[in-house]
Amino acid sequence: MRTTLPILCSILAINTNAQWRFEGDSSATWEQAVARYEALAHSRPGASLRVIGHDDDGSPIHLFVLDDGSGASPDSIRAAGKNILWITNGIHPGEPDGIDASLLLAQALLDSDQYMGLLSHTAVCIVPVYNVSGAKVRNSTSRVNQMGPVEYGFRGNARNLNLNRDFIKADARNTRTLVSALNTWDPDVYFETHVSNGADHRYVMELLVTHPDKLDTNLRRFMHQRLMPRQQDWMEQRGHAMCPYFETREDIPEQGLMGFVDGPRYSTGYNALRQRIGILSEAHMLKPFAERVNATFQLLLATLAAMNEHPKELAEARTKARASASELVRYPADWVIDTASVQRLPWKGYAADTTTSAVTGLPRWRYLRNLPTEVEVPWMNSAVPRLWIERPVGYLIPQAWHETIDRLRLDRVPMDVLAKERTFVAEVQRITGHRDVKRPYEGHYLHRDITTDTEVDTVVGRVGDVFVPMGHATDALVMEILEPRCGDSFFAWGFFDAILQQKEWFSDYVFEDIAAELLAKDPDLAAALRSECDRDPAFAKDAKAQLTFVYQRSPYFEASYKRYPVARVIQ
Ligand SMILES: [Zn+2]
Repeated sequence: MRTTLPILCSILAINTNAQWRFEGDSSATWEQAVARYEALAHSRPGASLRVIGHDDDGSPIHLFVLDDGSGASPDSIRAAGKNILWITNGIHPGEPDGIDASLLLAQALLDSDQYMGLLSHTAVCIVPVYNVSGAKVRNSTSRVNQMGPVEYGFRGNARNLNLNRDFIKADARNTRTLVSALNTWDPDVYFETHVSNGADHRYVMELLVTHPDKLDTNLRRFMHQRLMPRQQDWMEQRGHAMCPYFETREDIPEQGLMGFVDGPRYSTGYNALRQRIGILSEAHMLKPFAERVNATFQLLLATLAAMNEHPKELAEARTKARASASELVRYPADWVIDTASVQRLPWKGYAADTTTSAVTGLPRWRYLRNLPTEVEVPWMNSAVPRLWIERPVGYLIPQAWHETIDRLRLDRVPMDVLAKERTFVAEVQRITGHRDVKRPYEGHYLHRDITTDTEVDTVVGRVGDVFVPMGHATDALVMEILEPRCGDSFFAWGFFDAILQQKEWFSDYVFEDIAAELLAKDPDLAAALRSECDRDPAFAKDAKAQLTFVYQRSPYFEASYKRYPVARVIQ
């Protein structure tokens, strides 16, 4: 790792045609970026810089707000009838393109007659660098596949967390800062800047949007009819080829490309749950840094243009989206790409072949950059939910599970803290199965393929327990966090793991006599034991297993074992 700072910080270049362009191969450090925004904030009306919270390492996280002078608070921006574009840079500081593109954007919007009009109906909020602690780990090596810049930061933050997997569990102080700020400013479009990995091709930009099948229909219409066509035209007119963000089905694009389903842990998935359109710019890793920064800059401008040209339509789409979210009856979750639904995608790539690896002696793929191709490739981008969950009347969360309550509070979910004891009729779920990752994932042994049994019971809410009523725009978010079968639920992330451990046991020689008495009093239990012995010869020879069978069906067995403590209130 090199410790010297680049001699030149990124230079904003204006050529004689007043076209705004980035040049060079150096990306601004966090300190340089903040200093530049500070200078803009001091010298220009309509520009301000503030601290919105802190990184896990204690560094401040800044927000730069740009508007045409109608005020720089969320209230004044809304009072002026404006929408908000939010841009988060440096969530992965090894992919710094947006840090430099946003500096260029801020300068262009403030200084250029050509672009100033783009702020007439829209304010822009820019997080200069979000993962500050990662950005401080300057190096030239951690992005082995990436063409520049000469130095950049590291992906993990001070706790080695990937912040773009943290939007639900919110382990990082960075995440709690950002979620809180997003709730304060409530942007209409959330834009996050990245650099892609993956196959080689001739597009400088891959565009990732909130998966349309998961998005509210009103927002989807705006995204499909207003936003994406404008982005595509704008980029084409300026010579920046753009394709959808994809994952390869096998090795090369010709074997098929798949869209990406952005679950709630990702920024775009999370923002969709708050009725915001989410966009990720994924500049292609093998294009030169300056070309990537310029493409990112233009995509930001295109997004701003689309928003600014249809302000009322966007505002109405969000209002309708919030209303329909609060009327939700059944919630679709656990989305996957439907690989049976195959379309054709026009594709500008390179021919590829296999040769023998000099490293392994085995076959390896290579792209032949001297042989550009223009073909159609199989494209799978329909998403389908694997889970439908009925919305309850509300959820009762015992106060003991305060991490969960704190997470919902962070999103300002409406909730009642019980001032007196209250009895509810509720569905109570018991965890019947789950599979776990073998190695820790983002700080947790994540559970998946979770199954539950449900029974209706009477539950008592104590003073201080929390009742979360449904019927609000946050319902989808609440269900993703509280329904244990959802892939990013707090149960899946391991926040309820304590219920998976049995706390009390029996001593065989003592329980023998109790078990005999139980069987004598309960012919059904005795019959169940005999039938299990008939069914399973190994069980018939296993005394401990048989005693356990009786114990688990006896009043001595602890009721809390695998009983999910958050109840689905139905009356
Ligand atoms: Zn990234």
